Parts: sequence; structure tokens; C-alpha cells
Amino acid sequence: MEKARTRFAPSPTGYMHIGNLRTALYEYLVAKKDGGTFILRIEDTDQGRIVEGAVDIIYNTMKTCGLHHDEGPDIGGEYGPYVQSERMQCGMYKEYAEKLVELGGAHYCFCDEAVLAKEREEAGEGFLYDDPCKYLSKEEIAAKIAAGEKYVIRQNIDPEGTTSFDDEVYGHIEVENSVLDEQILLKSDGFPTYNFANVIDDHLMKITHVVRGNEYLSSTPKYNLIYDAFGWQKPTYVHLPPVMKDEHHKLSKRNGDASFQDLVAKGYLPAAIMNYIALLGWSPADNEEIFTLEELAEKFDVSRISKSPSIFDIEKLTWMNGMYIRNMDAEAWYELALPYMKNAIKSDVDLHAVAAILQQRTDKLTDIEPNVDFIDELQEYDTALFVHKKMKTTEEIALKSLIHCKEMLEGLEEYNMETLHDGYIGLATKLEMKNGQIMWPARIAITGKDKTPGGAVEISNILGKEETIRRITVGIEKLQAKLG
Ligand code: GLU
Repeated sequence: MEKARTRFAPSPTGYMHIGNLRTALYEYLVAKKDGGTFILRIEDTDQGRIVEGAVDIIYNTMKTCGLHHDEGPDIGGEYGPYVQSERMQCGMYKEYAEKLVELGGAHYCFCDEAVLAKEREEAGEGFLYDDPCKYLSKEEIAAKIAAGEKYVIRQNIDPEGTTSFDDEVYGHIEVENSVLDEQILLKSDGFPTYNFANVIDDHLMKITHVVRGNEYLSSTPKYNLIYDAFGWQKPTYVHLPPVMKDEHHKLSKRNGDASFQDLVAKGYLPAAIMNYIALLGWSPADNEEIFTLEELAEKFDVSRISKSPSIFDIEKLTWMNGMYIRNMDAEAWYELALPYMKNAIKSDVDLHAVAAILQQRTDKLTDIEPNVDFIDELQEYDTALFVHKKMKTTEEIALKSLIHCKEMLEGLEEYNMETLHDGYIGLATKLEMKNGQIMWPARIAITGKDKTPGGAVEISNILGKEETIRRITVGIEKLQAKLG
């Protein structure tokens, strides 16, 4: 059997919507699962929507996400060009539109578009145009064209009968032909509409599976009538339910919802984003959730795509991102965290040690800076922070602990994780106190915060002996002032 050929066909609108990226991912997975070919095609026939730099965003996003295409505008391929405006310049859409007229699948239409648009608007939804041009004779048409009259090429749909197809996700779809509008295929400026170009390109590029948003589900019967008129084989259709913000709203740029670029800027890793969006509408047979792209390509199965819309859950993505961070190689994590650490930390501390504590407790990269802001400078804090019910600490206990901590720290000849650990724990034993009654006050005193990326031992080690003792002293003074 022929290997799968899929295409991601974005319009360059300057924004990589999460739903689009999921479509790209599923197209990629359908191709790769089969050892097939993944193609990038730029659909820029709607020139009014084009945004400068948008194609670069598409390239960059796909590259960052590891969705490497096998054919596309930048790398070529046997079925190029891969940009619709370039394909148009070759005249191919016009040629095929004229061919379709010959085959009886379309007709020339000379109607005034402005008048028609008004009629359409007045009639509202469900307007079907009964085009008088359908009934023009060959001679009349030739004369009008010769006279330079503007025309479009419009699809012919026989109102009798039904058109049906089987979608891989939505199942059997059947519509009465009488409800299908005879849409424009070629505009008067010679540009094809999406409705026409997608069929011609998918056919010429030998696309086997069309994966796209379900907003195209209702138009697909019309596309199939074009395939039929040409006598071409139709692709397998995989229409995807929308990605939702909540139960009632689609995720959309207009609502200010995050794009892929926004998520990266917010500190999410591309690999985690891809992993998460793979699960927006698809689930594996087992309950596993963490996959590399290669693993996904192996496991992915179109039959397990759900037709119910999935809700984009940023908390789940944040959790998954944290899992990715914890599973990273320590050195790779250090490199990734370095620019964020450098932004927040100017003092001379061991950034490898800082990265190590962060790796266990960071869910997204943008958490790093606020989490290490105490390293350069101890902020003002309230002594109430020393009180912790579960740790059984009060301000009085904290004061006692800190006085002993200071003495212990001053006595350390070697200052490292091990000696610090033994020192703090040894104190608890010696004073017959709970570990928390030593560790909690010590950590509050050296950070001024109740939530920190590491414990008293790790942070004392990072700050160094002198600074740790200085901060413990500050804590003692604060408590003495408070307690009198
Ligand atoms: N250019 C269309 C879009 O961005 C692609 C639809 C399709 O994949 O056929 O929505």
C-alpha cells in the first residue's frame, strides 16, 4: 500500500494557534507512524490576511517543535511549488478550473459580485445562489469573455441526491446536495479560493490523509464533488474537534489566549507543550502521559481521536512542564536555566548548585527569577514567618534555634553540604528539638521567605558561611527586637 503523505497547510496569519499546532502534530504523526511523508504547504491565496514575517513564525515554530517536514517551500520536493501564490503564478489553478468547466463540474459566472454579496447578506445564513449564468450558452459565454467581461468560475452542484463520506473521527457524514452552495472556485483576479486550491493541491501533491479543524467538515462534501468531477481519488479525512478555553469558548487569539510563542515566553518547554497538546483530543490505549515525539509517532492512532472538544488546561501543562524539567539531564537543565538565573543573581554563588535545587522545584522557566531573588539580597520580612504550627515553631523557639545555629555555623571548619547537614541535625538532637524546629527558622532567616527552592542545608551551602551567619544574625536581632 502507498505510504501516507500528509500536509500541514497553514495560512500565514502571524500567529501559531495551539489548535493549528495540534493539527500539524497530528499530521506529522499520521505520516511518521507509517514511515510516510510530511509536507508543509503555505496557503496564502487570501492575500488580504497575509502578515509580514508570518511564514518565518511557521518555520521557526515547526523547527522548535521538532516537526521537521520532508517537503516544503524552503526545502523543495517533487510536488512544488509549496506556496499557493507561487502555484498560482504557474497558472495551474486557472487551468484546472477551466478543465472542471469542460467536465461539467463548474461554470463561468459573470454576475456582479457586489450585487450578489448584498443579496447574500440580506438573505442571511443558508443562502443558495441560483446562478443565471449556469444557463448561458457556450457562444454567449465566449462572447462575454471576448468582450473582456469579468468572471469567476463557480462550482456546479446538482441539487438532486446526497453526498456522503466517512470521516475518521466524525464517522459517516451525509448531506443533501440541495443545501450545498455553488461556491466560487476561481476569483475574478485569477486567485483560487481555499475551497478550490485545497482540492487541487491535495490531489497534485498526492496527499493521502487530510487532517484539519472540523470547521471544514461541512464543506468537505463540496470538495468531494470536485474530486468526483475530475475522477480523482479522495483522501482520507481526519477532522479534529476544536481546542476549547472552557466549556463554551474556543481557544482563540481574539480572546487573548496563548499562542505557542506566548507559552514559550511564559517558560514552557516546546517538548512539554507538544506532549501536552498531543493529548488534547487523543489518548493512548494505556494511561501513559509522557512521550517523546518518536514515542508518539509509534503510539499514535487516529481511531483514538475523540470527537468531543478538549479543554486546554494550563495547570496540566504546567505540571507536565515540571515533569520534563525534572527528567532533564542536570547539565542541560543548567544551560537552560542559566539566562534566568543570571538575570536574578549577580553575586558570586555556585550557579550549578542553584540549578540543582531549582530543578526539583521549578514548573516553568519564568518561576526561576522570583524563586532565587533572595540570593543577592535578604528582603525585609516579618518575624511572624518564623511561626509554623506543623513544625511546632514559635518566635521564642526560633530565637533559641537561631542562636544555636549561629554558634554551630561559626564552629564549622569545613563548610559543605555534609557538614551543614550534620550540624543542623546534630543541633536538633543536642537540644532535644524536632528537626523542623531548627530547619524552619534557619531557612526563614537566610531567605526571608516561606517558600524557597531548597532547604536550609542547600541554601546555607549556596550562600556561603559568612553570608549565612550574617543573615542568621539579622534573624536573631529581629526576633530579639520583637520579643524584647
Ligand atoms: N489554510 C487552512 C487553514 O489554515 C488549512 C485548512 C486545511 O488544512 O485544509 O485553516
